[in-house]
Amino acid sequence: MRIAMISEHASPLAVLGEAGVGGQRTHVAELASALVGEGHDVRVYTRRDSARLAESVSTPDGYEVWHVPAGPARRVPKDELLPYLGEFGGWLADRWRHGDWTPDVAHAHFWMSGLATVHAGRRAGVPTVLTYHALGTVKRRHQGGRDTSPPGRVGYERALGRAADRVIVQCADEVAELVRMGVPRSRMALVPPGVNQDVFRPDGPVAPRDPARPRILTVGRMVERKGFLDVVRALPAVPDAECVVVGGPSAELLPADSFARRLSALAESCGVADRVKLVGGVPREELASWYRSADVLAAAPWYEPFGLIPLESMACGVPVIGTNVGGIADTVVDGLTGDLVPPRDPRALGTAIRRLLTDKVRRFAYGTAALDRIRSRYSWKRCAEQLGAVYATVATVARPAPALA
Ligand code: UDP
Repeated sequence: MRIAMISEHASPLAVLGEAGVGGQRTHVAELASALVGEGHDVRVYTRRDSARLAESVSTPDGYEVWHVPAGPARRVPKDELLPYLGEFGGWLADRWRHGDWTPDVAHAHFWMSGLATVHAGRRAGVPTVLTYHALGTVKRRHQGGRDTSPPGRVGYERALGRAADRVIVQCADEVAELVRMGVPRSRMALVPPGVNQDVFRPDGPVAPRDPARPRILTVGRMVERKGFLDVVRALPAVPDAECVVVGGPSAELLPADSFARRLSALAESCGVADRVKLVGGVPREELASWYRSADVLAAAPWYEPFGLIPLESMACGVPVIGTNVGGIADTVVDGLTGDLVPPRDPRALGTAIRRLLTDKVRRFAYGTAALDRIRSRYSWKRCAEQLGAVYATVATVARPAPALA
């Protein structure tokens, strides 16, 4: 099949080199290459955010990345992109109608891509599939007045749930959220993402560590909702262990990062500063060596649409103590591959970490079961096969008639 993937703000090219890129970029890059591996012809469309970018780039993984001219050719914060999505959708419609490559299906990532894709799909007669990645309702519930999403996001997301031919949901929690928003269950297909098991595997280089000191690792972007402050608050309950934080800006830029400074100040006031090490963002291969160096991964977000970090840790055979939210509630099996604790509860987190660090047999059993779970359920190949079946259904059943004019 010819498959168009639309990811307006998250270019998969960033994954090939940059440190600390977010989950959507990783997701789009891995999925595109897995779909190529299944024999599909894949183009990823992303916004042209630099004047130096060529119109299209062929990646070593066999898919193409197309840079769509929509808005200024420079980086624009995600929450300011909405005004350019009409132009984005118009460009896609024009290419798909008049160019030499019309997709059989278009898969949008994130709601703004969804707007452009549904618009273009209707005009060009291309069926559409949408993965939200994150939901405005959930963000607003947790961030309230600090949510910088464009006004109207929730309404657009609700409308897109009915306008797209299929909505790909990543976890059970997302199904429940969408049902509450009025998206019909019959339009949804539950297809969890995968993890790259060539990069994230139990064997390989290990980041340096003191063998005498248990290591808790926590990974992610330097934002409050990822729960790093709760991990630091849990540390006094876990004597002797060190806590390594990987993510955010690279090591040189970390001292200027306001959240990193807040984290260090908290560690100081909790009396654990000598046990907290901030590494900064690292490229994926290096990240794997940090997972392998850990005794346990603490994943303590307040909410998490899916969460690739716990999967990556499990793929390295490292058990996860995670908060019982979003995708983590599906990926971590409580008492089998790790432990689930309530979000924003440092006491529960500290108790669970201490219990696991003092029980070598349980750690080994969790790590082994985690690896087994990843191998049997969370490969990108499996994800691409399942999505291929969804695409085939919408391409044959739901192909709309092209718009006139
Ligand atoms: N990541 C990375 N380097 C880092 C920290 C994170 O490459 O220093 C990657 C990590 O491998 C994962 C992604 O960033 O694929 C984070 O995805 P997740 O879904 O956990 O969170 P998001 O950032 O999308 O909220």
